[in-house]
Amino acid sequence: MRIVLLGPPGAGKGTQAVGLVEKYNIPHISTGDIFRKNLKEKTELGLKAKEYMDKGLLVPDDLVVHIVKDRLLEEDCKNGFLLDGFPRTVGQAKALDLEMNKLNIVLNGVINLEIEDEILIERLTNRLVCRKCGATYNAKFNKPKLENVCDVCGGKLYTRDDDKVDTVKNRLKVYKSQTLPLIEYYEEKGILATVNSGLDSKKVLAEICKILE
Ligand code: ADP
Ligand code: ADP
Ligand code: ZN
Repeated sequence: MRIVLLGPPGAGKGTQAVGLVEKYNIPHISTGDIFRKNLKEKTELGLKAKEYMDKGLLVPDDLVVHIVKDRLLEEDCKNGFLLDGFPRTVGQAKALDLEMNKLNIVLNGVINLEIEDEILIERLTNRLVCRKCGATYNAKFNKPKLENVCDVCGGKLYTRDDDKVDTVKNRLKVYKSQTLPLIEYYEEKGILATVNSGLDSKKVLAEICKILE
């Protein structure tokens, strides 16, 4: 199964990815997670990406595309993968098409998670992430059992620097101008399905699985 999760920041891509990679036994490829891991390790890539992430801007295509290309060549992607947060521009989508053509593989589906801006802002400004394992929680909608402690690994939870309200608003603007055109791009290819992501996360997962079957 080869899936792309599309949708604005806060739509629930990361949350849905957890259920989907378990169900289909495929690797979860999140470019945002890859950048954050690099930043934690203070690599050149991480420090470069941070300049853009902090402003709520997209990291330039050339920095993102080769990371994903390399990742898709790894052994665990043989039977499929889930892309979360990539592609985010038409340029990235075209680069992905080219690479998949070379590998002689196609996408099974592009799932577009749709939701209103007001809910997104509330979700993002209340998002909590585990510093150790990256699991995602929400101070309002999906509280951990113990305050600020990860249910999965016991790690400490933190608020991402780019989840501040002003940066969030900027990210939504960037989404609309640079990522929204992908909806039409994949619609034209006949592989796009839109899901209402404002529902309870279990219901959203059930909807996605129904589409992919
Ligand atoms: P994305 O990866 O698209 O940016 P996340 O999966 O990180 O989004 O979700 C953003 C925030 O919203 C997180 O705090 C998450 O716990 C919460 N969230 C995700 N899905 C739902 C849902 N269906 N209902 C309520 N809150 C949700
Ligand atoms: P969210 O889904 O909440 O927007 P991500 O973790 O996917 O967050 O991305 C965080 C940031 O990392 C983005 O705002 C952007 O700066 C950078 N980023 C992640 N994926 C990409 C991508 N495919 N292209 C460009 N920048 C990206
Ligand atoms: Zn954890």
